[in-house]
Amino acid sequence: MSRTRRLLAWAAATDATFALERIDGRDVLVGKCIHCGRKLAVELDVSRPSAATLEHIVPRHHEGTDALENLAVACARCNSGKGVRLDARRRDDPTLEAVIQTLRSRRRERWREPPEAWQGRLGKRPEGS
Ligand SMILES: [Zn+2]
Repeated sequence: MSRTRRLLAWAAATDATFALERIDGRDVLVGKCIHCGRKLAVELDVSRPSAATLEHIVPRHHEGTDALENLAVACARCNSGKGVRLDARRRDDPTLEAVIQTLRSRRRERWREPPEAWQGRLGKRPEGS
């Protein structure tokens, strides 16, 4: 499993909008894009690529880390749209800061610890989380 896919699975597993569903014989976490609320699916053991993408709330460009609190699940359109609009801004730009604060509080509201039963399949918990 690639690191990005493992982080994506952990981001979904720690987001209370994502529920485990059995789809075509696979265990899939189905939940909502952190931006627009569109329905997204991430396989629990991430054996296949997903349309969902890994969102860094504080962008990597601005030294945002891979700590789970800084990660969320987003659809590709929202994720790249945010990148295009905001990544080139200075870290102290008010628009960038407002988006970061909104996403942080949304992520906190949705936070949950993944059920014990999932943890073996999610792989190693990302460090610093
Ligand atoms: Zn979206």
